[in-house]
Amino acid sequence: MTAPEPSPGTVLPSLPDGVAPLAGDVAPGAAVDSVDGVDGVDGVLFDVDDTLVDTRGAFALAIDAVCEVYLPRLPVERYGEVLALWRSDPHGWYRAYTRGELTFDGQRMLRANELQETFGGVVLDEDGYAAWKTVFWGTFEESWRAHDDAAPVLARLAAAGVKVGALSNASVALQTDKLTRSGLSDVPMLVGVDTLGFGKPDPRVFVEACARLGTDPARTVYVGDELDVDARAAAAAGLTGVWIDRPGTRRGGPHEEDPEAARAAGVHVVATLDEVGDLVLARR
Ligand SMILES: [Mg+2]
Repeated sequence: MTAPEPSPGTVLPSLPDGVAPLAGDVAPGAAVDSVDGVDGVDGVLFDVDDTLVDTRGAFALAIDAVCEVYLPRLPVERYGEVLALWRSDPHGWYRAYTRGELTFDGQRMLRANELQETFGGVVLDEDGYAAWKTVFWGTFEESWRAHDDAAPVLARLAAAGVKVGALSNASVALQTDKLTRSGLSDVPMLVGVDTLGFGKPDPRVFVEACARLGTDPARTVYVGDELDVDARAAAAAGLTGVWIDRPGTRRGGPHEEDPEAARAAGVHVVATLDEVGDLVLARR
């Protein structure tokens, strides 16, 4: 896979008044007094990884698999540390990929070698990485599962006539496959990192996803597990941002994960997708 390229013929969306083209530095909005519902919602956009799909769980199994082969002297009790380093991505290499600065394999090879160096493995050259990837990816894609609360909230929203779609910082093809294998093929994969050639937090991806969903950003909720690139960025683009902060799943490292800061920025904070259904349907 190469760096994200815009889909052929794609025209970059125009932004609503007052929305800046890049939202890397999201300005705090008005504080929310209470989270008892959102008025006038026509659509809900979902992030895929760790929002609808238990990607953390799949990563855990994939990391176990590569540890057994590539870190043979590391005690099993320490595999959790390897997973934590993988997910925290302290150098932000995955985010560099979403900005088009690294290829998909480029960021992944850097991260694989960070694990090798940190936990006493040999450094992987190109051929070594190719073999590592076979072990990692084979386990990873066999392990994709929806979170237990995904299908119920999708059913509730559909029954209420609320449109739903997915917006992700991975490629459309990868995420379409992931949703299908996770039993969520009814969720249209509307915008990926390769749709416009860049990903969240740029507000244009949110505006493009709303256009494809057929909803006004002001009447659209966006739900994601990363506070800055998901919920705050969505709010900055004119949507209602919801941060799903599932217990025990924070990434740590450089990731912004403060619920009070989230609320101060006008973001709704939930622990489950059931609460998203409550939030959207409370006032319908
Ligand atoms: Mg995610």
